[in-house]
Amino acid sequence: MPFRAVLLDRDGVINRLVYHQDAGIIDSPFTRAQFRLLPRVPEAIRLLNRLGLRVAIVSNQPGIAKGHLQPEMLEWFDRTLLAQIESAGGHIDRILYCLHHPEAIVPSLRRRCHCRKPQTGLLEKAAAELKVSLSECYMVGDGIPDLLAGTRAGCRTVFVRKWKCEICQIKEARHVHPALVAEDLWHAAKLIRQECAAAGPLLPAGRSLVCC
Ligand SMILES: [Mg+2]
Ligand SMILES: [Zn+2]
Repeated sequence: MPFRAVLLDRDGVINRLVYHQDAGIIDSPFTRAQFRLLPRVPEAIRLLNRLGLRVAIVSNQPGIAKGHLQPEMLEWFDRTLLAQIESAGGHIDRILYCLHHPEAIVPSLRRRCHCRKPQTGLLEKAAAELKVSLSECYMVGDGIPDLLAGTRAGCRTVFVRKWKCEICQIKEARHVHPALVAEDLWHAAKLIRQECAAAGPLLPAGRSLVCC
């Protein structure tokens, strides 16, 4: 089965996670100063583009629901990551977020939804918008919910390992067996390139593969 798209988690795959000292938690960035792309992410996305794969972000972002940030800040993060990726010649086709949380303090976002990973709604929406089937997608994430959602949706899963605690969790998490394990998104993109090369050409006619 040739692959046609890569679905990416955001925090811990594209941008750094942040240690919020006040709350003692590792979480998404909440401020502009906290938002930083991880090394070689734009290059990794450009590589996936050049393999002829569509690329979408599918991410749980309950920060607004929990009162950590305003919608404008999330939009600023989007613009910043898109600008940095595009300036390196990469392209993101879609960004899809689940903004809900079952214990949200913002009433309109307090919901048990079908889009919050490990549910599959966000992945289904991305595949529909990219006009691909979920079995033609990789799901790349650094968390168990990413891998569970990817497995349930029938994607090929790639675990980007960053946090030791997640490695411990993954050993214990039942039914979670990532197809590939990568150090970071750049490594994941190279593993995907290997698989795609082994599976045969999937580039549309007229597009050439440019060596990174
Ligand atoms: Mg993550
Ligand atoms: Zn949701």
